[in-house]
Amino acid sequence: MLNIHEIYTSVQGESTLVGTPCTFVRLAGCPLHCTYCDTLDAIPFDSGQAMSISDIVKQVNVLSNPLVLVTGGEPLAQKACIRLLEQLCDIVPMVQLETSGALDTTSVPKAVRKIIDVKTPGSGEARHNRWSNFEKLQPHDEIKFVLTSREDYEWSRDVLQKIFHNVTATVLFSPCWESLNPADLCAWILEDHLPVRLQVQMHKVIWGKDKKGV
Ligand code: SF4
Repeated sequence: MLNIHEIYTSVQGESTLVGTPCTFVRLAGCPLHCTYCDTLDAIPFDSGQAMSISDIVKQVNVLSNPLVLVTGGEPLAQKACIRLLEQLCDIVPMVQLETSGALDTTSVPKAVRKIIDVKTPGSGEARHNRWSNFEKLQPHDEIKFVLTSREDYEWSRDVLQKIFHNVTATVLFSPCWESLNPADLCAWILEDHLPVRLQVQMHKVIWGKDKKGV
């Protein structure tokens, strides 16, 4: 069983698969408390309802999208998440996992495209970064920095140069909504010739920052 906050269909608003029709499976519960969290409702571990993996898979099948994103909360905080990912890989062409980077990703099936956060100082949770998660990345994995300020940018640029200079995974720099102007972040990236991809949260551009279930 897994505690599920919500399952819905929309387009993927982030990552290299932005714009792709996607089934979102949001698991309840997260041990972190990032300053900019936009899924506060899903942080309590009792914020969802218990569902069997077979019922989740059936619902994903009915929604019939080419992509499924398992997210949260922090999905890996529930151990059965790994079994869910294995079963989703059998029925959906593309499976993504969005994780905070605070928990061990070793058991995640190789077919799953991991999006692993690097928590910046502005998140208030940088002490939880588990750097060993980045030792065995695959080319289809993605590393995501959410930046709240120039200070976060400079910290992320240093991390990129010291730790990720050899990675083949895509590195995403995402401005925190309403904290950092995307135009400023874009200018800094171009000025420093960083090998990263700028992303804005497309669902917020389309529907606004407060709309749920999109
Ligand atoms: S890891 Fe994600 S879900 Fe958890 S508090 Fe941070 S932003 Fe929110």
